[in-house]
Amino acid sequence: MEKEEINSLPSPDVMSLFPEELAEICAAAGEKPYRAKQLFGWIHAQDAVSYEEMLNLPKSLRTYLAEHVPFVYPSVKARQESKLDGTVKFLFEYQDGALVESVLMKYKYGSSLCISTQVGCRMGCRFCASTLNGLERSLSAGEMLGEVYAAGRSEGVRISNVVLMGTGEPLDNYDEVVRFIKLLTHPDGKKLSGRNIAVSTCGLVPMIRRLAEEKLTIALALSLHAPNDEIRQRTMPVAKKWSIEETLDAMRYYAEQSGRRVTFEYALIKGVNDSDDNADELASRISGIPCLVNLIPVNPVAERGLSAPDDAGVARFKKRLEKYRINVTIRRELGRDIDGACGQLRRRFSS
Ligand code: SAH
Repeated sequence: MEKEEINSLPSPDVMSLFPEELAEICAAAGEKPYRAKQLFGWIHAQDAVSYEEMLNLPKSLRTYLAEHVPFVYPSVKARQESKLDGTVKFLFEYQDGALVESVLMKYKYGSSLCISTQVGCRMGCRFCASTLNGLERSLSAGEMLGEVYAAGRSEGVRISNVVLMGTGEPLDNYDEVVRFIKLLTHPDGKKLSGRNIAVSTCGLVPMIRRLAEEKLTIALALSLHAPNDEIRQRTMPVAKKWSIEETLDAMRYYAEQSGRRVTFEYALIKGVNDSDDNADELASRISGIPCLVNLIPVNPVAERGLSAPDDAGVARFKKRLEKYRINVTIRRELGRDIDGACGQLRRRFSS
């Protein structure tokens, strides 16, 4: 009887659940609803990694939970620290052997963690190492929180910024990603500000529109990487599904709904998208959208044979965009000495 009730719950691991859902579990275990608040606090505010340490919960409840609701928490399979800038890259392992990467960047104002949202990726972008072996599975909200909590715990820091720019396409794991954001900003948990969370997408248009309507106050970045459909289709399969025009319309909608400017990521690839004409066309495309363009000299992926323009080429592209009064940054590269680029550490551990 009890088992059936548990099985009908929407999400299996305890870190993925909202207090209301924990209350249902507590009720099924014959406990009072306030126990759910204690349980939520242990997990999301007090950094518990197991039920055993929740000493103010009755032993019978802890036993019930251990039997019915999995507690997933990643272990650190590898850790690399950059000697250049202190950036730490983690390879986390989950109970089923799934491996994901997260990167912790330490800034003057706090620590920022770049997390993975899926194990692998099925988007197929040609310049990206994360997609080479396809998608293994998506991560649950709790597993993504595990990256944040385990990284903070390992380094003894409070993580104040989280970016969903590691392996995976966040909007291909939409429900769990939204749940993750709601849990991370929950007033009884880590209480991050939505403004300190950023999602990056390769451009799943209907999901961008849906996200705009969630009113989460988070920042949104689009991996644009090309000024027109022809070039974009050469490097990003998703561009065959939605045109740049439809994609930019969705981004404009996001900017309107959120009142925030959006970011366009543009990985410069030598001879593919880095000419003056490309800059001019890009500028005309995004004109009128409140935005920032973030230029990223492409990280070479040996399997793909793509390379970046030199520093002068990057600077020229930036200047050309600035002529049109566009805000442009060049991504500062951190952790160059520790396989900084997405998906590269994980690839060394999985055959
Ligand atoms: N799927 C999401 C988030 C993960 S990728 C997205 O596409 O936005 C995070 C960022 O790194 C994206 O902008 C992606 O296009 C970029 N990226 C991937 N491989 C890269 C490489 N080799 N060099 C530079 N940027 C890369």
